[in-house]
Amino acid sequence: MLTVDQLIDLEVRIQEEIESLRAEMDSSAAEREAISPDKGIGRLSRLDAMQMQEVAKDAQRRREERLQLLEAAQDRMDDGEYGHCQRCHEPIALPRLQAQPEALYCGSCAG
Ligand SMILES: [Zn+2]
Repeated sequence: MLTVDQLIDLEVRIQEEIESLRAEMDSSAAEREAISPDKGIGRLSRLDAMQMQEVAKDAQRRREERLQLLEAAQDRMDDGEYGHCQRCHEPIALPRLQAQPEALYCGSCAG
């Protein structure tokens, strides 16, 4: 079982990750605006720009997924279910939660 101190520590971590993800998502949205196709750039650099846009979109999608997982972790904290494996209901080891506070499964179920 997690102690209250450990829970608070993890809660802070989750909150910080959510905030930095949101900040990254804002700045990456601003970057996407910057690569508009009517900048009078050549065909090759336009292809480059499109490729970069795809990469940026992909990164954005991954951030959104992570954000959802982190928010779901916050909900589980509110419900007092946080830190338990969603499959076998055993407590998830603390080092695992510290490395990945949004973890849904314990080491053996995730593996
Ligand atoms: Zn498990």
